[in-house]
Amino acid sequence: MRLKNLEINGFKSFSKKIILEFQNPIISIVGPNGSGKSNVVEALRFVLGEQSMKSMRGTSGSDLIFKGSKNLPKSSRAVVTIYFDNSDKVFKLSNETGENFNLNYDVISISREVFSDGLNKYILNGSEVRLKDINNLLSSVNIGSSGHHIISQGEADRILNASPRDRREMVEDALGLKIYQYKIKEAQRKLERTTNNMKEVSLLRRENAPHLNFLKKQVDKFEKAKEMQVSLLSLYKEYLKKESIYLEKEQSSLLSEKSKIEIELGDINKNISDIEENEKPAYNAMHSDVGGEKELKIFEKKISEIRNVKNEIERKLGRIEGMIEMEERRSEKIPEVSIKNPEEIKAIFDEINSEIEIAIVEDSAAEIKIILLRIQNILKEFSGNIISSGSRFSGSLSQPDHSETIFSENSELKKNQQEILLEMQNITDEEKKIFEKIEILKKEINQENEALHLKEKEKFNFRVKQQELSSSLGLISIKEESLSKESEAFKNEIKEGEILIGSEILTYKNFSTEGGSAFGGEVIINRIEQEELRRKIERIKIKLEDVGLGGGSEIIKEFEEVSERDNFLAKEMEDLVVSIESLRTLMVDLKEKIDVEFKEGIKKINIEFDKFFSLMFDGGTGFLSVTTENKKKRGKEEEGEEGDEDEIVFEQGIEINVSLPHKKVKELNALSGGERSLTSIALLFAMSQVNPPPFLVLDETDAALDESNSRKYGDMLEKLSGASQLIVVTHNRETMSRAGTLYGVTIGNDGSSKLLSVKLDDAVAIAK
Ligand code: ATP
Repeated sequence: MRLKNLEINGFKSFSKKIILEFQNPIISIVGPNGSGKSNVVEALRFVLGEQSMKSMRGTSGSDLIFKGSKNLPKSSRAVVTIYFDNSDKVFKLSNETGENFNLNYDVISISREVFSDGLNKYILNGSEVRLKDINNLLSSVNIGSSGHHIISQGEADRILNASPRDRREMVEDALGLKIYQYKIKEAQRKLERTTNNMKEVSLLRRENAPHLNFLKKQVDKFEKAKEMQVSLLSLYKEYLKKESIYLEKEQSSLLSEKSKIEIELGDINKNISDIEENEKPAYNAMHSDVGGEKELKIFEKKISEIRNVKNEIERKLGRIEGMIEMEERRSEKIPEVSIKNPEEIKAIFDEINSEIEIAIVEDSAAEIKIILLRIQNILKEFSGNIISSGSRFSGSLSQPDHSETIFSENSELKKNQQEILLEMQNITDEEKKIFEKIEILKKEINQENEALHLKEKEKFNFRVKQQELSSSLGLISIKEESLSKESEAFKNEIKEGEILIGSEILTYKNFSTEGGSAFGGEVIINRIEQEELRRKIERIKIKLEDVGLGGGSEIIKEFEEVSERDNFLAKEMEDLVVSIESLRTLMVDLKEKIDVEFKEGIKKINIEFDKFFSLMFDGGTGFLSVTTENKKKRGKEEEGEEGDEDEIVFEQGIEINVSLPHKKVKELNALSGGERSLTSIALLFAMSQVNPPPFLVLDETDAALDESNSRKYGDMLEKLSGASQLIVVTHNRETMSRAGTLYGVTIGNDGSSKLLSVKLDDAVAIAK
């Protein structure tokens, strides 16, 4: 026996605690009208979690609490406790995941308290629990919340009045399918929760996505920057190493070139200064030249003086000759016989010839003129002789005295003339000597000039070379300047590189140029290749600067955190999808199970129903049929969920079909009150028979039965009591007679119901 005790305290008319003990399969509660019997039934409903105040004949929780009377104060709360035997550990609770676990108590106690403010408390074996836990627990022992096992007063035909849908619910409850329904509802709720969770998770992920994308891009950028740094470092190493080699080499080559030129220039400068130093004696020489020139001028002056003297001599000579001529003309009057013999003529010619020879070698025109004058005189003398000798020969060869005087004057003149001629000869000789000296002096001057010219030429050549070398030095200093710029650029490049890739850049020093273009152990740096390298570096630098380097590690950390969270959410999403899937599967399975069990249950019920029915009505048939109605899914519409308004669900209901013996009436509505009670009882009993509940409560279900039907009812009670405990509220003696325990309920003047154990006869008396 499942039901052990029921304790009622402060509930409705039970102001004080009463205990009903269910030690018999059939317990009957008897008492006069208004004593509180139905309150006992309602106490049972209450403790089992009934939520309908109406079914407990109240409007609020406070209606369930003893309101007090003239003599008794009102109660502050109503408490009802029910005790079940659980020695077989049949009571189960299912957890959130739908797993069942047995409660390891021998006795299960369920208490429900209600307070005047309407607050309810549910206590399971001393621990406060939720209503759903109570429902969950009771469904495991086939006590469904539809309350089909508690038939209240006036509800004998309740199942007949119920809608096909409610009937189906009652049948499912009776068949123990409620647990599945409950599980479906649970799954449904979980599904909704899970769907909401999914929405939340998806919303969170959507909210996170832009930030995550941003971070991802940043991380990608950073990684790209890292890659770029690596390639930049490798380019830098090669470039900087080669550049350093190039700069060193250029520097040393410029230095050596410079020192070479400087040495050469020093030599040239020395040569020039030497020449200039030597120019001083040359200068003196030049001055001596000037002395030479002076000497020359003195000579020329002398020549000119000689010429003046010579002119003077010529004039003198001219005068003498004139005088000689006059003398000779005077002497013509005295013919003079001076025919020359051939020897004299030859002597004259020889004289003339010698004069001519002198004239030939003579440069001076004046000298030649003098010579010519002399020749003229010789010729005049000779021709005069010829003329005078002819006249003499003609007749006057006498007068020798006179002619002797003439001859002596003339010879004086001639003597003078000879002296003058001698003087002339002397001066001409002197002139000739001076000319010779002049000639020598001129040669000397020319030779000096020649030497001077050569020195000047040499100096000029040195100057040209000096210019060339100075230009070369200038070129070198330009090169040095450009090299220093290159060197500056090299240092700046290192600084910039250090900013972009850190101090690792300095490892360029270890870069090996082996295998590069080397000649005789010396690395040859190709400037075009270097320039190409530098351009590559520049390109990467620009990209790198564009990408930026700042805060990479923080971004990566944040990205890891955010993506970890996103992964977690994604995993959760997966889990939710899986759990939705499994919930749907569970729901489908449960629905299938319900469907199968429902159909089988209906079959079984129909067998029992038909038996009970024909037993009750002495014939006839009764059976249940399942109807299907297409309906919109109202529940969803009420919850205002989108997208489900048009969802059509197939709602199954149950129709009760009866055929009374000897009657054509088949409609339930057409049955009499008693017939309705009998049909209802037959169906309830059939349902209980198929899947017996731990107990059945029947509150005056037998009220409408006549004596013979009361007996049949009593028989059925006994039959049923084999499987379920029966608590029967009745005024019917027949029914009372079937009970093992009889409780009498009375109500005193204090308005408080009392409970007492009575014997059948007492009970019959009490009931009246
Ligand atoms: P019947 O045989 O006529 O059906 P009954 O024995 O089933 O009668 P109940 O209906 O159980 O009687 O009891 C009704 C009585 O309980 C009424 O007298 C009513 O005043 C009393 N009652 C109901 N609620 C309360 C309450 N909250 N406090 C006190 N008394 C109450």
